[in-house]
Amino acid sequence: MSAGLNLAQLQAVHYTEGPCLVLAGAGSGKTRVITHKIARLIETGLQPRRIAAITFTNKAAAEMRERASGLIGRQAKDVLVCTFHALGVRMVREDGHVLGLKPSFSILDADDVSGILKDCAGGTTDLATARQWQWTISAWKNQGWDARKALAMAQDDHERSIALIMQRYEERLAAYQSVDFDDLIGMPMRLLRHHPEVREKWQRILGHVLVDEYQDTNATQYELLKFLVGERARFTAVGDDDQSIYGWRGATLDNLKKLPQDFPQLKVIKLEQNYRSTSAILRAANNVIQPNPKLYPKTLFSELGEGEPVRVQDCDNEEHEAERAVARIQSLRAAANPPPAWKDFAVLYRANHQAKPFEKALRKANIPYKVSGGTSFFDRAEIKDLCAWFRLWINNDDDPAFLRAITSPRRGVGHTTLGALGEFATQHKQSMFGALFNAMLPAVIPRRGLEGLMEFGRTVNELEYRARHTYGAEAARAFLTDWLKELGYEQHLYDSEDSEKVAAARWSNVLEFCDWMAQRAGGQVEDGTGTHSETKSLLEVAQTIALLSTISEREQEQDMVVLSTLHASKGLEWPHVVLVGVTEGMLPFKLDDDEGRQEEVSHDTAARLQEERRLMYVGITRAQRTLVVSWTKKRKKGREMVACQPSRFIAEMKLDARTAREDPREKLKALRAEFAARKAQADNRTP
Ligand code: ATP
Ligand code: MG
Repeated sequence: MSAGLNLAQLQAVHYTEGPCLVLAGAGSGKTRVITHKIARLIETGLQPRRIAAITFTNKAAAEMRERASGLIGRQAKDVLVCTFHALGVRMVREDGHVLGLKPSFSILDADDVSGILKDCAGGTTDLATARQWQWTISAWKNQGWDARKALAMAQDDHERSIALIMQRYEERLAAYQSVDFDDLIGMPMRLLRHHPEVREKWQRILGHVLVDEYQDTNATQYELLKFLVGERARFTAVGDDDQSIYGWRGATLDNLKKLPQDFPQLKVIKLEQNYRSTSAILRAANNVIQPNPKLYPKTLFSELGEGEPVRVQDCDNEEHEAERAVARIQSLRAAANPPPAWKDFAVLYRANHQAKPFEKALRKANIPYKVSGGTSFFDRAEIKDLCAWFRLWINNDDDPAFLRAITSPRRGVGHTTLGALGEFATQHKQSMFGALFNAMLPAVIPRRGLEGLMEFGRTVNELEYRARHTYGAEAARAFLTDWLKELGYEQHLYDSEDSEKVAAARWSNVLEFCDWMAQRAGGQVEDGTGTHSETKSLLEVAQTIALLSTISEREQEQDMVVLSTLHASKGLEWPHVVLVGVTEGMLPFKLDDDEGRQEEVSHDTAARLQEERRLMYVGITRAQRTLVVSWTKKRKKGREMVACQPSRFIAEMKLDARTAREDPREKLKALRAEFAARKAQADNRTP
């Protein structure tokens, strides 16, 4: 168990009686401490289901579960390894009834939310404005505010009007038996704060809580943690203040500062050895972060040797940059025997839209790649359409799902009818589905519309009944095929798309999705500990999808080059990293340069620059063996090309000027000079 841990790590792993903070730089083995500590806790007799390990993404959770099962085998399955949000789902499903929520509540995604907000304002608002409200409301919720508090705290008319919309929004969500993402943290917190019986229950269940990437928790998550661990305070938080990159989303370093104050018995452990990167890479990272104010002094060294120098590539424009990145990947593969795998390479950038030229260049070179954090399968419109039906089976009161299911494809129920139904439902404090069965409805809706509505209601009920009693892969497949046919969904796709090719691609997604569902409904399940037989009803499968579709993705380890934003690369590592777009204005990002991130306005300039510097630090420290940093002399801004400068962070890396710039001409010149010198030397020796 203690294999592969240094002394400080061992100390952190073995201290299980009280609060523990591991504070250390990138690649120093913080995440490794968490996995090993899970194993240690089980070794000391704590039941796996009494351990919760909280990670920043679902992907990180999957990886941690895998590592833990490598250490302790099957028992790892029972450990609660998940994100704060997934933990929140679990708590609200179990205890949300205390807050008036059914266990089958729905989780709304960002699109649902902006739709509802638009609606709350009477539908006269554009999407951009709705998104801004969404942002503000989310920020309030992350501070633990509800609409009442927001109204009380509002500074001006603008804020007051948003607070009023928030009030309506809260009412809608309650009526829909739905929660948004922020509620998944806020509600558990309310449960623990105001309901002692719930609080005691969870404190009794959880014998130890571990939190990775602690520096990026927000105020409500910290409160939640405090309530979860209670007075015994058995928890382990690991983090690095230099990697705090979610300030723009409400994460706060105050949580790090508060910890020693709130828990005077806190044991603080520092790790100093980096096991990930070569000295050359680590030096560049340390130099970059150096100008930022220090919250805690830290030193970090590596014993992996000096390694290849960090290189800077000066590129003409983004296309050129992409070509050079691809050439770099190809030449590294050609130079090594055996060549590194594709998945050993990552191209990292500041913003999602930067991926395009790299995708193009990789496709052209026939290199397999995946865009991490790109549009997930579940975000596709056709998949969302089908999921709306499942959501409705599970929670009849889910109005956004109701509207989606009844309109795609349209079932002869027009906007006027739906509008009238919505109004009626609001008046009677019912969901739209619930209102269908209200005896007074026929008084307000004309007969033809009413027939369409009733037919829809009957279909949903009937399908739900059948799904509840459909077990196993084969039956599930037959059910789904029949249902899609009845729905006329394939035809609907061809009718709504101009291009047949697009319609065919969407239909093939639908088939893939059905196949995937059918598989989940039954048969053989592989989970690393062997193959098991497990049959589920289609309704049960639908229930797990509802969760998957909003907070997780199906991630597979494939041999592909990874394209990722810096934010999504946190905690990960690759042997070879190309950090692109390190151009002044992109990284650090210039606010008035737009690209749609107005939400960052609230951050003041100095703090923002520091966060950008941390982002650069995160990027550099993802690399294990080689790192290339590239920038472009020109870049597209709107329709124009503008002249650019290299990012100030390139100078701050303080690279050795002789080796850093990889200009092929320079290299050739250097080689020629070296050859000439050797020749001269040899000539001298043999007169
Ligand atoms: P980050 O700050 O980026 O999240 P981290 O501090 O969580 O990094 P880990 O990801 O846990 O660091 O570890 C970095 C790498 O070093 C991993 O490949 C890990 O397996 C390895 N490692 C950690 N500790 C040791 C050790 N004691 N001996 C050998 N390898 C180690
Ligand atoms: Mg980590």
